[in-house]
Amino acid sequence: MTDGARSTTRPGPSPREVATHCPYCALQCGMVLREDADGVAVLPRQFPTNRGGLCQKGWTAAELLDHPDRLTTPLLRDPASGELRPASWDAALQRIVSGIRAVQAESGRDAVAVFGGGGLTNEKAYALGKFARVALRTRHIDYNGRFCMSSAAAAGLRAFGVDRGLPFPLADLGRADTLLLVGANPAETMPPLVRWLTEQRRNGGRLIVVDPRATATARQADLHLQPLPGTDLAVANALLHIALTEGWIDRAYVAERTTGYEEVRRSVAAWWPARAEQLSGVPVADLEATARALGTAGRAIILTARGAEQHAKGVDTVTAYVNLALALGLPGRPGSGYGCLTGQGNGQGGREHGQKADQLPGYRRIDDPAAREHVAGVWGVPADELPGPGVPAYQLLDSLGTPGGPRALLVLGSNPVVSAPRAAHVERRLRGLDLLVVADLLLSETAALADVVLPTAQWAEEDGTMTNLEGRVLRRRALRPPPPGVRTDLAILSDLATRLAAAEPTAATTGTSASRFPTDPAAVFAELRRASAGGPADYAGISWPRIDAADGVFWPCPTEDGPDTPRLFTDRFATPDGRARFHPVDHRPAAEPVCDEYPLHFTTGRVLAQYQSGTQSRRVDALRRAAPDAFVELHPDLAARLGIGDGEPVRVTSRRGELQAPARVSPTIRPDTVFAPFHWPGAARANSVTNDAVDPISGMPEFKICAVRVERA
Ligand code: SF4
Repeated sequence: MTDGARSTTRPGPSPREVATHCPYCALQCGMVLREDADGVAVLPRQFPTNRGGLCQKGWTAAELLDHPDRLTTPLLRDPASGELRPASWDAALQRIVSGIRAVQAESGRDAVAVFGGGGLTNEKAYALGKFARVALRTRHIDYNGRFCMSSAAAAGLRAFGVDRGLPFPLADLGRADTLLLVGANPAETMPPLVRWLTEQRRNGGRLIVVDPRATATARQADLHLQPLPGTDLAVANALLHIALTEGWIDRAYVAERTTGYEEVRRSVAAWWPARAEQLSGVPVADLEATARALGTAGRAIILTARGAEQHAKGVDTVTAYVNLALALGLPGRPGSGYGCLTGQGNGQGGREHGQKADQLPGYRRIDDPAAREHVAGVWGVPADELPGPGVPAYQLLDSLGTPGGPRALLVLGSNPVVSAPRAAHVERRLRGLDLLVVADLLLSETAALADVVLPTAQWAEEDGTMTNLEGRVLRRRALRPPPPGVRTDLAILSDLATRLAAAEPTAATTGTSASRFPTDPAAVFAELRRASAGGPADYAGISWPRIDAADGVFWPCPTEDGPDTPRLFTDRFATPDGRARFHPVDHRPAAEPVCDEYPLHFTTGRVLAQYQSGTQSRRVDALRRAAPDAFVELHPDLAARLGIGDGEPVRVTSRRGELQAPARVSPTIRPDTVFAPFHWPGAARANSVTNDAVDPISGMPEFKICAVRVERA
């Protein structure tokens, strides 16, 4: 591996290095940043998860530090021209405060909402949740992590009593005799993770991938099941049916460590393999081979990701795979278990410390009186003044600017104009607000709609912690301060809180000041530890020096001198009786079935060289060269039937909108399904097409299947 791209030269200090982590995905690969007279370079770093490897996004991450598109001054929308114009920090913050005051005076506290991001550090996620509940006193806060792994989180909570993406270290993957990946494509989304898959197969293990596309990961597998999108649940129930029939159930484990098995056993009796084949298209022989590989393995791991989870039945789909894992006695044993591959950089920590509509720090429920008392005590406010639960992300976005809905929105680290389902509708909702404030380092498509844009620091310009997909808390270290004119999110929240308290002193906000909203991330983390103490995600024993000394610390970690928890569930689950809970779940059709007018299935995903809504990765030269444009992937048979050649522009239309992009004709996709990546805005925006039907438990939108028609553009 070579060094990554350098940032452009900026007259700087003498050579300086920090050991830190990549700014992008949940693998949070370790890296070294070195700054010298030539700029900032990314260097490899041995870390347990990536062992020196990085993907192209990681190698080129420093390029954005001095990018010419970088925002370095606040922007205010000029009422006369409608243009965004540079403004002073004082003018921008005053505009925000006066807007908030006006909206809340007229329509109540809940008329202001906050939308966060799964890439914010733990400190920022915590401060944002506190800001919403203490400074704004609104119940309306949620974040884009809702669109990421909320279905797996909800399924994990109801089965295991706790939600940690991987309840075991990543290294366990290399020890599994059978590894089943459902709707996961790490070869493109997290390439360094593939080392563990390679190791697993070098050790004689078997890799099985369930995916409607023959992805780069599926092509490496010993067996690839290619179901119709939205039928993963039926596949799981059939696998359990076969395991029951063949006698592969771990009866002692089920009896000692679980409850609810009998009901699930009865419910999967109807899922004979031929029925699942008819529905999903996966041959019975492949279902049987998969069940055998899992049921007869000494160690087996089942992992789900967005392909299985981003559905209106995502929670039940994950639950079906959890049921399978429990029936085979996998969770809690080394080299075995169920896990979710979290996507966003701090998707895990972001949902633990208060950005979610129904949660307080430490993964506490906001409707739990004891939790409210504890957190209110740390925050120095009366518990009865904390707002109650808000609504999940899409419901929040859909209510903006409507009668009774929020009239002002503060967005940190998110770009819903590109990343939300039914995006054109969300864009209209954002345009209908009285006040839209976006804090970002670049002018994202959402920032371009804002009334006020605040320039924020980047990952290499501030300290903090991130929690990776294993539940391992990591240190992100600042290489250098933000450029002149740019502030950290913590500084912005602190300043706003001070101004709001001065504007509206009440029993709850009196005394709100820089000291109640510290700008120093170390001080915020110290408070986060106290707020999380005793909660499910207990960080009380995690200090920055302890993280520094040990390649990260796994939560829960309640005491500084006690152990952390790399492996959960070895003796008991986090339920009141210590047992995992089976839940019977059944297949149901996609929210939007195909029909004569919209006869094809549409699904979305990522490509290796781009990340999420692309605000950052689309501006990195090497990534833009590697993946310059969106595309629509369709099978040669379908392309021939529609008279579409490779590279020709096509239009994909659903009931909600359309996207246009060049065709990529490939036999790797099912003939009844088309795929598009979701990183691009404008005419190529995949989320113009996606369905906003949501899971009733998690609020996860159905990104992964809707009905479309395809034609030459
Ligand atoms: S796999 Fe993820 S964390 Fe690692 S270098 Fe790539 S984007 Fe960064």
